[in-house]
Amino acid sequence: MNTPFSPSLASCADEYDPHSMTVEQARSVIAHYLKPVAGTVRVPVRSALNRVLAEDVLSPVDVPSHANSAMDGYAVRFDDLAASGETALALSQTVLAGAVPSHPLGPGQTARIMTGAMVPAGADTVVMQEQARREGEQVWIAEGQHRAQHVRHPGEDLAKGMPALRKGQKVHPAELGLLASLGIGEVLVYRPLRVAFFSTGDELVSIGQPLGPGQIYDSNRYTLYGMLTELGFDCLDLGVVRDHPVALENAFEEASRMADVVITSGGVSVGDADFIKPLLARLGETVFWKIAMKPGRPLAYGHLGNSHFFGLPGNPVAVMVTFYTFVREALLALSGVSPVVPPARLRVKTTTPLKKAPGRTEFQRGVVSLGADGTWSVRSTGNQGSGILRSMSEANCFIVLPLESGPVQAGAEVEVQLFEGIL
Ligand code: AMP
Ligand code: MG
Repeated sequence: MNTPFSPSLASCADEYDPHSMTVEQARSVIAHYLKPVAGTVRVPVRSALNRVLAEDVLSPVDVPSHANSAMDGYAVRFDDLAASGETALALSQTVLAGAVPSHPLGPGQTARIMTGAMVPAGADTVVMQEQARREGEQVWIAEGQHRAQHVRHPGEDLAKGMPALRKGQKVHPAELGLLASLGIGEVLVYRPLRVAFFSTGDELVSIGQPLGPGQIYDSNRYTLYGMLTELGFDCLDLGVVRDHPVALENAFEEASRMADVVITSGGVSVGDADFIKPLLARLGETVFWKIAMKPGRPLAYGHLGNSHFFGLPGNPVAVMVTFYTFVREALLALSGVSPVVPPARLRVKTTTPLKKAPGRTEFQRGVVSLGADGTWSVRSTGNQGSGILRSMSEANCFIVLPLESGPVQAGAEVEVQLFEGIL
C-alpha cells in the first residue's frame, strides 16, 4: 500500500508496547505525521477569524505613523524647563487628535495636546495636565519632568516592513483588530481542515427515531460535531455505521476519500478491534493501542489513503478526553497552526478526596471555583464512570492525575486543565 506518510507507522510505533502506551508515547508517535494541509486562500479580514495565517503579514506602515502624545497635557521642549522649580511657558496652540499642528513649537512655547494628537515639530516631551497649571495664556510646568516622557514615537509598536503576524498564527479577535489597524483588507489563510466522522455500534439510534430495547441514542456524533466546529474545522457527519464489515469498509472508504481526517467512535476495544483490524490493515496502516489512561484506554491511530485516522473509544466521556488529549492538537497542527501549544494546567487544592490507582494517567472531571477566602479550589463531580456524560457537562475542568499517583487526599494540590480555552 502506497501512502504519503513516512516513516511507516509500524516503524515508529514499534519502539513501544501497544498494550501499555503512555499518553506521552502515543502523542509523540502521532506527532511524526502532522504536516499542514496544502491549499491556501486569500480572504477578507473578517472571514479570517478562526483561520490560520499561511504567510507572515508584514506591516505596510510605521505604527504609530507619527510622534503622538500618550497623555492629555502640554507638549514642551525639554531644554526649556528649569532644573528646579516651576517653568512658565507661552501657550501657542492646541492640538486635537487627528489634527495637524498649525506651526512648530518655538523656544519658550508650549502646546495644549490631547491623547493621540501629533506632537508639534520642535517639541520632544509631554507633561501630563495634572503637572501643569494654566493662567490665561501662560502655563506653569511643575519640576521633575523627564526628557521624552509620554511621547509615542513613529514605528515604536511596529516598524514598517517588520512581521506584524506570523505564518501559523490563528486569527483571534486581537489579530483582526491588528490587521485592521494596519489597513490590511485581505490575508492568506490555510483552507479549513475537512474532518469526517461516524459512530459505530449496532445499539446506536439517531435522534428522531424511537429507542428499541437495548438501544441508546448516539451522543458521540454531537460532542464531536461541537468540538470540531468550535475549533473552526469543516465537519462531515457520516452518521451511524453498523458493526458489519461491509458497512464499515464502505464508510471508511467514503470518509477517507472526502476528508483530511477521519474520526470514529466505538469498536476499537479488544473484542471489537479484532473485527475491524484486518479491514483497516487492507485500507491503510493503523495501530491499535491500549493507553495507560482513564478514561480512554483503547485508541487507534492510522492512515487511510491520504487521510489521518483516529479511532476513539465508544464511551462518551472517553471520546471527549481522547479528543482533547490526542486529536485537538493534531488537528491544529494539520490545519497549519505553529507552534501548537498544549492547554495550560494550573495547580489548585482539591476539596474532595480523589480515588486513583497508580499506573495510568487519569482525567477526572472537576469543578474549579473561587472560595470566599479568595483562593481557587477544585472539587470532584463524583462518579467518574466513563459513560457519564453529565459529569462533563457539570464540570469546568479536567483534574489531571499523573501516571504514578495513588489516591489523593482532600487538601492536596492537583493539576487542573480548564475547559474554557480548549473548547
Ligand atoms: P465500544 O467501544 O464500541 O465497545 O463502546 C463502548 C461503550 O460506549 C458502549 O457502552 C457503547 O454503547 C457506548 N457507545 C459507543 N458509541 C456510542 C455513541 N456514539 N454514543 C453513545 N454511546 C456510545
Ligand atoms: Mg461498539
